[in-house]
Amino acid sequence: MHVFFGDMIHTFQVNDILEMKKTHPCGGYRFVVLYTGSDVKVKCLTCGREMLLPRVKLEKNIKKVISENL
Ligand SMILES: [Zn+2]
Repeated sequence: MHVFFGDMIHTFQVNDILEMKKTHPCGGYRFVVLYTGSDVKVKCLTCGREMLLPRVKLEKNIKKVISENL
């Protein structure tokens, strides 16, 4: 398992776990990446809800990336 901070967040890919600065309304702060493009689809690991967010907006909100793909 690899954990990235700061500039390394841009390396996130499908199946990575993102820890967000702002929590989801359900209280969860960990999200799994389902799809990446100009928009990124993520799923809240706490409530299971899926969201599609502009990549730029999402990246500003990432605190940490947890990857098992490397
Ligand atoms: Zn949630």
